[in-house]
Amino acid sequence: MSTRKPSQSSAEDLIPEQPTLPLLKEAAADCKACDLWERGTQTVFGEGRRRAKVILIGEQPGNEEDLTGKPFVGPAGRLLDNALEEAGIDRSQTYVTNVVKHFKWEPRGKRRIHKKPNTQEIAACRPWLLAEIALIKPQVIVALGATAAQALLGPQFRVTKQRGQFLKSSLAPYVMATVHPSSILRAPDDETRRLELRRFVDDLKKLGRFIK
Ligand code: SF4
Repeated sequence: MSTRKPSQSSAEDLIPEQPTLPLLKEAAADCKACDLWERGTQTVFGEGRRRAKVILIGEQPGNEEDLTGKPFVGPAGRLLDNALEEAGIDRSQTYVTNVVKHFKWEPRGKRRIHKKPNTQEIAACRPWLLAEIALIKPQVIVALGATAAQALLGPQFRVTKQRGQFLKSSLAPYVMATVHPSSILRAPDDETRRLELRRFVDDLKKLGRFIK
């Protein structure tokens, strides 16, 4: 029988009084602020440079991230690495994390299929994200995909219409949104995938010029 306590409604009370990134990661490992702690293997906290000019924020860890405990190491992470490199941005100079830090999934046969986090789960996990942003103080936050963009820029935000724009924000001097790399992997055919990848790299090239 599990000895873990039941879920709380927000991670707010778990943030250390004098947070550092290692302390936050340690505290988040025991987070039960929403029910996702029961479904995921482990908390997947953000990783990267303490003084990064850019934080890249996705929706949630995927299958490989859940198993390894590291963000953006699966197929979407590899696509992101390649796209950053093509855009002239060194991933080791950035910080990568997710809006929600546990993998939400549902079984389909033997596979674990990604399930979108809901509003309560995003709200419960938000204190971790805000604490990461407050410590790193990036020049630009990049929201990868609609879930991250709407969590950071509001529910009216549409990635399809406003991608690649540098918008002023209270979270950082600028927030820019683009697609999530996993959406490129899910493109229905090779030609669409090639075009979507090109647009993604173009957004990242804009980012590269912006932070120079
Ligand atoms: S998803 Fe976030 S709020 Fe929910 S248990 Fe995991 S770390 Fe805590």
